[in-house]
Amino acid sequence: MVRSAGYTRPGGAFMEFEPVIGLEVHAQLLTRSKLFCGCSTWFGAPPNSNTCPVCLGLPGALPVLNHEAVNMAVKAALALGCSVNPISIFARKNYFYPDLPKGYQISQFDRPLGERGCVKVLSGERADGGKIINRREKGFGITRLHMEEDAGKSIHEGLPQTDTKSYVNLNRSGVPLVEIVSEPDFRSSQEAYDYVVQLRKTLLYLGVCDGNMEEGSFRCDANVSIRPIGATKLGTKVEIKNLNSFRFLQKALDYEIERQKQVVLQGGQIRQETRLWDESEGKTFAMRSKEEAHDYRYFPEPDLPPLKLDLNWIEEVRNSLPEMPQVKLQRFMAEYALKDDDALLLTSTPAISEYFEACARLSGNPRASANWIMGDLAYALKSSGHEIQDCPVTPNHLAALIRKVDSGEISGKIAKMAFEEIYRSGEEPEVVIKRLGIVQVSDEASLAAVIDRIMAANPKQVAEFRSGKDRVLGYFVGQVMKETKGQANPGILNDLLKRKLVSSS
Ligand SMILES: [Zn+2]
Repeated sequence: MVRSAGYTRPGGAFMEFEPVIGLEVHAQLLTRSKLFCGCSTWFGAPPNSNTCPVCLGLPGALPVLNHEAVNMAVKAALALGCSVNPISIFARKNYFYPDLPKGYQISQFDRPLGERGCVKVLSGERADGGKIINRREKGFGITRLHMEEDAGKSIHEGLPQTDTKSYVNLNRSGVPLVEIVSEPDFRSSQEAYDYVVQLRKTLLYLGVCDGNMEEGSFRCDANVSIRPIGATKLGTKVEIKNLNSFRFLQKALDYEIERQKQVVLQGGQIRQETRLWDESEGKTFAMRSKEEAHDYRYFPEPDLPPLKLDLNWIEEVRNSLPEMPQVKLQRFMAEYALKDDDALLLTSTPAISEYFEACARLSGNPRASANWIMGDLAYALKSSGHEIQDCPVTPNHLAALIRKVDSGEISGKIAKMAFEEIYRSGEEPEVVIKRLGIVQVSDEASLAAVIDRIMAANPKQVAEFRSGKDRVLGYFVGQVMKETKGQANPGILNDLLKRKLVSSS
């Protein structure tokens, strides 16, 4: 279960701990150009090709703020319930590193863009076996959201002579980020997981971040400490960096919470340090201790004026925000009677939620729409590597199939065959069903003819049925289905068969 079971110290005292977790997320804003220059932010560009005197930190080059980045950051701050400061200040964060040619990073320090936010998250507990239970809405605080530029990337492996040399790619240098710092409000790895998943969703819905964790456009660091349950004082915290998947985040937190408990129970002290998650070992290891940590010597950026935002403009941005995932989630559960698991899945991206709503509306059957999208459609997309927005089966197509099943025109089994064929060819359901000859046979006269033939060929089984062996009915159903290549309407077939078998005429 999620909460710690009790622990007994060697001395005999019984102790129960709770973890205290805070999260820092760096999200790359989806602008075409960098935060302070006109260079492209394109991820796939050849190394060091997206650079200029500003993002290379050459002497005399001056930064110019990208207003689209400000627009996106304000959207994010408002969506996370932050108050947006009408005046925020860019500051220099000074440190030396080969991927930071200026010797400082432009960030925001004591006057960030947004502060004091709160998000509501549908969060649960992880039961044994991994199933999530007891989901309910919980509030988590956002301390601040500030804008900053990204650093470049050092490369220590995968290139020639990396045993003796390191490489640097400055394409990412100056790319716009928001850093979103939470309050230390999470009491389990599951809460942290649910929050980060929803945070990513929120940015996707706003269209301000692509959420791509593999390419580093959504990155997460976690602060973790433990304390005896009931204590108010925070324990010594450990920072875990570079958790580049949701699963790693959860595993690293679980490992770290357990590690800290063992240290404390054995009478040890937690060291304040930065640790990294090693996926192959399944453990965290110490990277550096805080004693060697940097003093960043922040001071206001002299080359940029304070960022002043018009209050009316902030309200305009607020009013332009789309429906947020948490609101949509609650609406889906209420309006379409979806379970929380299903609603979470169907709101996971704006595209999936739009597809679902269109299909539910066109078919008049939200339950069937949800089942198709989470079942056959998800499987087909995964196998073919398509995104739902490029899906060859449109909501119109799928809704038409659902309506045909609901009206008894085709069986569920035939609908699945037709679905595969529409997915392959992109043709209209009518065309596919006609071409495959898979319209369900519901017409009693033609079914009766088939049944008569089969009964005549199987007198022994007919006699068995009439002497009370009801199970023989299944045999006849099977024979008719075989003859009609699975196209007989099962309901009508059953009725007709029973009537014919019973009547001894
Ligand atoms: Zn540049």
